[in-house]
Amino acid sequence: MAAVPTYDDVAAAADRIAGHAHRTPVLRSRLIDEQLGLDVVFKCENLQRMGAFKFRGAFNALSRLTPDRRAAGVVAYSSGNHAQAIALAARLLSVPATIVMPHDAPAAKVAATRGYGGRIVTYDRYTEDREEIGRALAEEQGLTLIPPYDHPDIIAGQGTAAKELLEETGPLDALFVPLGGGGLFSGTTLAARALAPACRLVGVEPEAGNDAQRSLAEGRIVHIDTPKTIADGAQTQHLGELPFAILSRERPEVVTATDDQLVECMRLFATYLKLVVEPTGCLGLAALRTMADGLRGARVGVIVSGGNVDLDRYARLLTEHPART
Ligand SMILES: *Cc1c(COP(=O)(O)O)cnc(C)c1O
Repeated sequence: MAAVPTYDDVAAAADRIAGHAHRTPVLRSRLIDEQLGLDVVFKCENLQRMGAFKFRGAFNALSRLTPDRRAAGVVAYSSGNHAQAIALAARLLSVPATIVMPHDAPAAKVAATRGYGGRIVTYDRYTEDREEIGRALAEEQGLTLIPPYDHPDIIAGQGTAAKELLEETGPLDALFVPLGGGGLFSGTTLAARALAPACRLVGVEPEAGNDAQRSLAEGRIVHIDTPKTIADGAQTQHLGELPFAILSRERPEVVTATDDQLVECMRLFATYLKLVVEPTGCLGLAALRTMADGLRGARVGVIVSGGNVDLDRYARLLTEHPART
């Protein structure tokens, strides 16, 4: 396992991405505050470049490569936001990028990745193993493999969103964070423990796949089958080793949210904040709504992790999960 990153790595990442990543806005809604009896601030990473916080980690990781490694190029496997983040960061840093995607990946995602200049290699998700393909390409072509969360520079980069938020708002009483492989939540934990030690940290994963909750309870990384959830950005089968090392040391809370709750939050974001948020990006607010009674009067942060959702799918989700009145 690589060295576990620290807050100093988050601070160094913040310097590296300054002027390249957006300093995303922090928004509030008086109506949501009134409904929940809280003072809530939303860190809007759906408005980050390429539409999700993943640009932070990707740009930080690629910035740290030696000139030789940059010239040789990088490879990533992902059908989602990590692929687009690597493709965009690579283009900005003039690094050739190869992205391994399933041949049936959504056309919009393939087009976006190609639009950022990534070379796409497809595989059959039912018969082939993407990690193996990624590793083989890395070896044969001398590419550097950049994993989506289990990497110190990725974790440090993801932690810069919470760093910006806490520097802007001052210490918060609690911070709610979407949780998949744990890059975002472990980086956030590093930033929050340094800048707001009393802040309650709550990671939120899909109820269908509560492997992180179980992993922290059992003291080992629990592996599960790919969970059936609309939160495709958190459809991971296990925590990364580095995120697990940080989370099991710092022991933040982990809770879950259901798909119905996520769609309810897509409505709230659109209605009150005029924001398009993808299902995974709704995890934080979904959990906060169920825990609001115990937090009355608190100042609470929510990381809105991304906004990449195909509009036809967005419409379908709203129709299939009618509003509760
Ligand atoms: C990747 C992703 C997550 C989960 O991040 P991890 O670092 O894997 O825990 C959450 N939300 C969005 C929008 C993502 O793209």
